[in-house]
Parts: sequence; structure tokens; C-alpha cells
Amino acid sequence: MMEEQSLDCLSMSQALPLSQDSFKELWESVVTPSIATIPTVVDVPQEPWRTEGNILLLTESLAEGFDENLFELPMEMSTTDSVTPPSSTVPVTTDHPGEYGFQLRFQKSGTAKSVTSTYSESLNKLYCQLAKTSPVEVLVSKELPLGAVFRATAVYKKTEHVAEVVRRCPHHQNEDAAEHRSHLIRVEGSQRAQYFEDLHTKRQSVTVPYEPPQLGSEITTILLSFMCNSSCMGGMNRRPILTILTLETPEGLVLGRRCFEVRVCACPGRDRKSEEENKNKSGTKETKKRKSGPPAPAPGTTSKKSKSASSAEEDDKDVYVLRVRGRERYDMFKKINDGLELLDKESKTKSKVSVKHEQALPSSGKRLLQRGERSDSD
Ligand SMILES: [Zn+2]
Repeated sequence: MMEEQSLDCLSMSQALPLSQDSFKELWESVVTPSIATIPTVVDVPQEPWRTEGNILLLTESLAEGFDENLFELPMEMSTTDSVTPPSSTVPVTTDHPGEYGFQLRFQKSGTAKSVTSTYSESLNKLYCQLAKTSPVEVLVSKELPLGAVFRATAVYKKTEHVAEVVRRCPHHQNEDAAEHRSHLIRVEGSQRAQYFEDLHTKRQSVTVPYEPPQLGSEITTILLSFMCNSSCMGGMNRRPILTILTLETPEGLVLGRRCFEVRVCACPGRDRKSEEENKNKSGTKETKKRKSGPPAPAPGTTSKKSKSASSAEEDDKDVYVLRVRGRERYDMFKKINDGLELLDKESKTKSKVSVKHEQALPSSGKRLLQRGERSDSD
């Protein structure tokens, strides 16, 4: 305890020299007591470094001899515009066409295996591959004010994750040299795309100026790409996200808003197909239940319902699969099951025999002598 305290005081009181050549020298000058006086690694004091002055000194001295790229998350301030519009802590995710009738449209890409980006109308969900371009078509009903922009922001869909800012995973950030490497959403094909990080909420977004549709067209196309998979560890981590697309004045006033879910995955076509099918299945199940009142019998059991209760057990022909861990245990369960199967078989042949007996009963009124039964004449 005493040692710890003295170490604390020492580091605190010692002024850090500004002109260190290496981190090694710097560290040695801070921790002057011999290593033996430090009880364990865990007990190395952390607190002295927390004061702002020290941190500043550290970065100043390190900048001379160290590669900046060593650090995972360099300061993002350079990409942040000085006129960041005010934004709410929890982004709004309700659609709002506004007075300009802001609408989105997606190209019909189908669910083929090769498709890299496809949109599900019924699920309002975009499926796309990592870093592949997804064209989003924008429609407005009248001319927009000069300098209007689109802003794309990602937010976690579920309430329990919504407070967390959506960013790229450390792995994908590290292998990217772009200034906006931590941004999940990118706008492709425009030199005028700007990347923002809100000073207060830390939420990231990208804007692109609105361009009126070209002659003969009614739509403007924005090219979005998503730079992490939905499954990326340390990033989205399998948490579903929504993309919010807002139409804004240059001052950041929201004129319209559209939201859609996004899943970034290896097989967009396959995933869209299966998720749409699942939705349809659960949909029909619910309507069936509502319509039919009493629960419908499970498939395969319908014909047996009328039989007596005593035969119910015997007639349970449904096959269940049991997963068993380990060969030994499996063999044990198999033996038990084989035994039961054998019993079933035997009891069936027995009952068949007895049926035959009944049918073979003589019509004369003479009683057949069963084995083990004593005859009256004995
Ligand atoms: Zn990633």
C-alpha cells in the first residue's frame, strides 16, 4: 500500500520532459523505482495519466518519433465541417415525405445468387454486399431550395442498441487509409460527398448535394455503399440497422425523411428470399389460427384422432430427433431405443396373432382351448 502511494506521488509530481527521443526513455523517466517495488502488473498506477496536461505532453513527445498510423482511431475532426447541423440524440426513424413529397425507389434486382444489392418491398429492407454500390433513386414532387442536400445516417434498429453509434468494426477501419474510414455508409461517385461526425452525439453521416434529375428523367440517383458486414465483430455484430435518408436545407433543416433497414451480407439474393419467405409463412400461420378457432391437428395425426385413448400411445408414429453428445451416450440411447422398437414389434405381432385366433373361432359354439387354460373336463 505504501509503495503504491509513493509511486503515485512520484509520477504525479514529476514533470515530463518535452524533448524525449523515444517512448522507452520517456517511460523510464516516469517509472524510476525499480521493478521490484511494483507489486503486480495490475497495480501499475493509471491515474496520473488521466490529467489532461499529461496526455497532451504524451502526444506531443510521441508525435516526433512515432508513426501516427499506429493508433487505431486517429482524430476525426478534420472531416467534420464547422457548420454541423443540430441533431437529436436518438435519430427519428419515421417516414416523412414533407412538402416536397420526398420518396425513395430501388431498382428491381431480384433474388438471383449473383445479385450484389437488392431491395425487398415487403420488408422495406435493402440487402447488399460489403462495399458494393447500392443505387437509391430519389423522387421529389417540386423543385428543391438551392443547396439542398441528402444526408445518410445509420442507426441500430433495436431499442436496446439505439443509443450506440453505428461505426465500422476495428478490422475494416484498420485496413482502410481513407480519412472517413470509420464511417459505415459512403456515397460513391460524387466528389462533393462530405463526411460528418456530430460533435455531441458522435453520430456519423454523409451528405451529398441534391442534383435535379437530368433531362427526360424524373429521378435523381444516389449511390450508397456499406463498408462492413452486418455480422462484423466489434462493429454491427449482427445487430440490424436502419439507414435514415434525410432531405435537408444547407442549414440542416429537415425537409423530408425516409428510412429503410439494411443487411450487409455475402448473399443478398438468398437472404432476401429466405426472409421474405419466413415473413409469408408466419403471416399465413397467423391468419389460419384466427380463422379456424380450435387449433388444427398437427399434420399426420389427423386420421388417428377418432381412435380410443388406449391406442393413442401406440399410434404416436411421429419421429423425433434427439441430439446426443458423445458416441458412448449415443450408443446407450440407441440400445434403449432399439429395445423399445423391438418391444413394439413383438407386441404388434402378438396382437395380430390374437386377431387371427378370434377370426378362427369355430362357429359351432365349441370353445378353443387356450394354452395354459384348464379345460372343464380336466
Ligand atoms: Zn467490418
